[in-house]
Formats: sequence, C-alpha cells, structure tokens
Amino acid sequence: MALADKDRIFQNLYGRQPWNLAAARIRGNWDGTAAIIARGRDTVTDEVKNSGLRGRGGAGFPTGMKWSFMPKQSDGRPSYLVVNADESEPGTCKDRDIIRHDPHTLIEGCLIAGFAMGAHAGYIYIRGEYFNESVILEAAIQEAYDAGLLGRNAAGSGWDFDLYVHRGAGAYICGEETALIESLEGKKGMPRLKPPFPAAVGLYGCPTTVNNVETIAVVPEILRRGPEWFASFGRPKNSGTKVFCIQGHVNNPCNVEAEMSIPMRELIERYAGGVRGGWDNLLCVIPGGSSTPLLPKHICDDVLMDFDALREHRSGLGTAGVIVMDKSTDVIKAIARLAAFYKHESCGQCTPCREGMGWQKRMMDRMVEGNAEIEEIDVLENVTRRIEGHTICALADGGVWPVQGLIRHFRPLMEERIRDYKKRHSMPLAAE
Ligand code: SF4
Repeated sequence: MALADKDRIFQNLYGRQPWNLAAARIRGNWDGTAAIIARGRDTVTDEVKNSGLRGRGGAGFPTGMKWSFMPKQSDGRPSYLVVNADESEPGTCKDRDIIRHDPHTLIEGCLIAGFAMGAHAGYIYIRGEYFNESVILEAAIQEAYDAGLLGRNAAGSGWDFDLYVHRGAGAYICGEETALIESLEGKKGMPRLKPPFPAAVGLYGCPTTVNNVETIAVVPEILRRGPEWFASFGRPKNSGTKVFCIQGHVNNPCNVEAEMSIPMRELIERYAGGVRGGWDNLLCVIPGGSSTPLLPKHICDDVLMDFDALREHRSGLGTAGVIVMDKSTDVIKAIARLAAFYKHESCGQCTPCREGMGWQKRMMDRMVEGNAEIEEIDVLENVTRRIEGHTICALADGGVWPVQGLIRHFRPLMEERIRDYKKRHSMPLAAE
C-alpha cells in the first residue's frame, strides 16, 4: 500500500509550495516546539529511541542512543550539534531537496536535537556545490531568528540555541564525521582515529554529535505525532518513513518519501515508473548509494528496502540512493567508474586505502577490457579483503564493496570478458 500523503513528513519535497516560514507553519512546522522541549531532555531522547529512528546518513546507527552518549553534566566544555549536509555519496540527492524545499523541518529539528543533547550551538556543514541550497538555508535561518525561533529563548522554550551554516569545499571524505569536524575547524578534511569518539572529544575538543540532515529533519514530526506513529511504518528495527532517491534506468527518476521496508520492486514500479523496458530488462540495482554492493535481478525481485533485509544479502540501505541498471549496462565498466571515484577521494592517510584504491582502479580498468588473467579475479577479491576493515575510516570499505559485489554476482561475465579479449588478441588462457 502506498504511503498516504498525510503520513509524509516532508510535505514540500517537490517544492510545489514556498519554502519560507509562513508556508512551513501552514504545513505544521514549528507547531508546539516549546511544548516538545518542555517534556525534558531525557523524555525527548527516549521518545526518539522508542520511535526506532536510525541514522539516515548511511550507517543506520540508532539516533536516540547516539544522543544519549552526550554528557549529561557539562565539565565546563560546551556541547555541539553538527549536521552533516555534505551528501557526497554518488546516487544520493535527498538532503538537497529537504534543504531546498523544506528547510524549516531541519531548522526546527536542530533546535530540538540541540536541546536533547545539551547543545546551545549547532553547525550545518553543507557541501560547497550546494550553493543555492546554502543560500536558502541561510535565509530560512534568518527568518527563524527574526521570528524568535532561534537565538535566546528559542521558540519560547527557555533554551538558547544558535545555528550556523558552514560551506565545505566538495570533498567526499568530509561526509565522514570526524573529517567533517576537522574541516569545520578549518583544517584539511582528514578522518581522526577513534576513540575518542566525537561525543567525548569532537568539535573544538568538545562533546559533539554529528547527524545527517534527514535524521534531524524528521525528529520534530516524530515528537509531534508520537514515537508509536513513526514505529508503525516498516518492520521492527527498521521503522519509519524514508526518502529514497531512485535513478538510472527507470522511466521516472525521483526522490520519494515512502514506507521503510517497502519491496524494492514496488518502490521502483510504483514511484519511478518501472525499469526502462520492463522489470525483466533489469540487470542489477545498487540499493543504497555507490558504496553499497549491487544486487542482481533475482535478489531485487523480492528484497525489502531496509537496513536488515539488504544486509542479509550482503549489501546495505546506506543513503537509499537507488541506482537502477538495465541490461544495456556494462556493469564491469560501471563498477570500474566507482573504483576510480574512490581512488580520487581517498584522503591518503592509510596505506591500504591510498595504495589499494589506485591498485583496484587500475585492475578494474583492465577488467573492463578483459585484459587480465582469470586468476586475477581472485587476486582482486583477495586484495579488497585486505583493505576492508584495515583503515582509519569507512571510505576504504565503501570503496571495495562495489567491486566485491561485482565479483560475487557477475564473475562469469568477468571471465567471459577475459576470454573474449584473449580470443580477439589470439592469446592463450594462462591455465591452458
Ligand atoms: Fe583516508 Fe582512506 Fe584512511 Fe579514510 S580509509 S582515513 S579516506 S586513507
């Protein structure tokens, strides 16, 4: 069953109405914010926990639990909320539309989340390429200040809260929370070793929680309608509504807020007009942004779009950037392109990532041609395993997972490409 419009948190995802405060209030934003805050910090955090909300930025960590890691009593250092609006994952463009068309959902969420974690200041780190969005965001924040919704006694809640926008310079790695913090501090965007985690030592050495735009933007509505309402969508541990970005070989690429755990086929056919040429023309789908392993059609036929179902198939919901590829796709070439992307975006601190991403890319370039030995597929797989889990941050993991997914599901195609190459160049197979 399709999610009813009344159950959509983002009432203006398509920008059919103005983004401004007056229109946002009509849509229900900023309604009873002070009363929500009056419930107290622990209650607000507990309600977010009970809603089952998991981070919408990729990792899917339970949001309420993350907030509860922030110190209850200050040791003299301030606490900070940082919102990750870097959105650099290829295939993902949901936060952009939230900021463009529904910025007050985010701003109200920042105030409530900031209160829940004891922060009097929040920073929204937005990727540099989102220039127009940053202009809208700044204007919406100014509107909120002018209306008394931010600043001293924000929204009449008794809580003082300031909100700042910081534009990044467009590096993928700045979407990693500690690299983002470094960049916010004016340094090169390079991930930090953890521990300590940001909740203990984050921005300017102070307790910090970094949350994704969508995660924060859904919070006010969850608290207005109640955690049970949010938890009633999807499956246990995978609850709520979710903005999916559906693109590639579909008839109607779109962003859509749908119920979590919706079958992938239904998501694509109901909202994106189906696969170009029909469902049987589907080759594979990358379900959660470029770093999640692709799934071939036979899995896509009945897989559910949520954290746990996709993990069971050794992929992930990630950012819910759904990249659909039909049978016209050269899937080896598509994955090689991603390998090139991750090589380019490696920050270079860890040897397995710095060297491995380049190695992987060069190997994949040869696999596209078929200019390799069949045994090298195993070598490639083996090297990805040596990179995975052996670096400071998850970029390297995300960089090897697409290649692992390709080998897992399309190994016969890779072998065929190698055989063809050898035939065309009259070369013997190494094993012959
Ligand atoms: Fe940098 Fe890659 Fe190491 Fe992450 S894994 S810190 S991107 S070198």
